[in-house]
Amino acid sequence: MKLKGKVAIVTGGTKGIGKAIAEKLQAEGAEVVVCAREKTKGRFLCVAADVTSSSDIKKLIEQTVKRYKRIDILVNNAGVYPSIELKDMTEDQWQQVLDVNLNGIFNCTKAVLPYMMKKKFGKIINIASVAGFSLGFPGLVHYCTTKAGVAGFTKAAALEFAQYKINVNAIAPGLIITPGVKDFMDKKEIASFVKTIPLKRAGKPEDIAEVVAFLASEESSYITGQTIIVDGGLTVQ
Ligand code: NAP
Repeated sequence: MKLKGKVAIVTGGTKGIGKAIAEKLQAEGAEVVVCAREKTKGRFLCVAADVTSSSDIKKLIEQTVKRYKRIDILVNNAGVYPSIELKDMTEDQWQQVLDVNLNGIFNCTKAVLPYMMKKKFGKIINIASVAGFSLGFPGLVHYCTTKAGVAGFTKAAALEFAQYKINVNAIAPGLIITPGVKDFMDKKEIASFVKTIPLKRAGKPEDIAEVVAFLASEESSYITGQTIIVDGGLTVQ
């Protein structure tokens, strides 16, 4: 129960990696609020909010503070990865991925900052990806661009917020089996990708949630500005 008394927001916390993160933070004692475009019933307060909309995010923050009075942890997890080659990509398709994966982090981080700065405490954890941070992937130029951007955002924000004792870190997952990945790759593609992973298995959402819980805890208080790769050894070959 290393997060007892803390309040956490997890964007995209209704499915996949975000859901596992929300469950883990709750198991560690935190009060958890999740958001997604589609509201779901569950063990957490779930607010229908699109991270690309600053007015939706304002509502998310208001409802969190109304219920729990504080915000200690923000996990910027919501992200999309539609595959399309650059030569066929429209400006709207490019923009949509930038809006969710980068503007979403901007909107949510800006919205929680006043609460964290006032308390001189905060943990912001951004979900990046090995795509863009370490590896390029064809069909994902827009996505890779945003995820490299998340690592840059993490470094610069860590420096700006260090004076307020707010730690900003990121995690770069490799292949993690989620509803999003099952839409993106078929079983055969997943099986052939797994063969390239040194640990010879795909990741589980819980593999990422464990690292988030560590970064949200006091045990990691001297880590800031880092992007931690969690990929079964994929990128060290
Ligand atoms: P997923 O299974 O598709 O789940 C995505 C979650 O985000 C859902 O709850 C979805 O709910 C929500 N979401 C999407 N767009 C949103 C928006 N505009 N506003 C608010 N919520 C939104 O995805 P995942 O695979 O778990 O991925 C989660 C994060 O990990 C993403 O940032 C992704 O880039 C990153 N990542 C994943 C992998 C992987 O292999 N799975 C690898 C590296 C990085 P709604 O659709 O209802 O909004």
